[in-house]
Amino acid sequence: MLSDYHIHSHFSSDSEEKLENIANTALSLGMSSICLTDHMDYDYPISPDEPDMTFFLDIPEYAKALGALRMQYAGRLDIRTGIELGIQPHIADENYKISKSHPFDFIIASTHIVDKKEPFYPSFWDGQNIDDCLAEYFSDMLDSLKKFDNYDVCGHLDYIIRYIPDKSFAFSYKDYSDIIDEILYEIISKGKGIEINTAGYRYSLNSPNPCTDIIKRYKELGGKIITVGSDAHFAKDVGSGFDKARNVLLACGFDSYYTFKERTPYRHSL
Ligand SMILES: [Zn+2]
Ligand SMILES: [Zn+2]
Repeated sequence: MLSDYHIHSHFSSDSEEKLENIANTALSLGMSSICLTDHMDYDYPISPDEPDMTFFLDIPEYAKALGALRMQYAGRLDIRTGIELGIQPHIADENYKISKSHPFDFIIASTHIVDKKEPFYPSFWDGQNIDDCLAEYFSDMLDSLKKFDNYDVCGHLDYIIRYIPDKSFAFSYKDYSDIIDEILYEIISKGKGIEINTAGYRYSLNSPNPCTDIIKRYKELGGKIITVGSDAHFAKDVGSGFDKARNVLLACGFDSYYTFKERTPYRHSL
């Protein structure tokens, strides 16, 4: 079973899951290691409808709890301490400080916010042209990645497509290939990687995030480092869709994936 390197617990604003439930699920699936990657989104635009969604991570408490969990499962399951950092072009300095405030094993850089708005909320799309929203999303991501590079993988590269309200809209890599290629060049040239995020299957996208064409393009451009993550917010979703993800990676020409410890990539055969 591939190791799950994108999991949320009750330390994230949008999850209530207990760490032990996550570890037990991973053990029952036969995983050898997992990485918790709870959310930290500096300057997250708080919605008046959901004022508790601050996406602020109490890093000292989180690290302490994971240290105890690691001891509890020692010899059975390697538990790594990661973080999913929300990136935006204007918060690079803050993200450098956060990323250096603890010796994390693994850092995912994710774009959740475009122009101070979150595409997860339906109001994001009100009166907007979908093509313009997608173009702005990718352009912001590129800008953020150029300004902040203390990360290991770029999270769910086409995250925004999960939330397009018009379900008949067919997203195609080709329509945004110039900007997506620039993002991939940026990631590869800095020695970073991308993740295959299987939450896409749970949003009925019929593909992971990013989609197969982007994974293929990453390979063509020389990309090597790939992690696999469920983006689980419930223990039951740990490892979900991993069989499909493995098949997608093999079909895209990959024969291995990576885990991280102390920010160092370790290669594993698929
Ligand atoms: Zn995310
Ligand atoms: Zn996540």
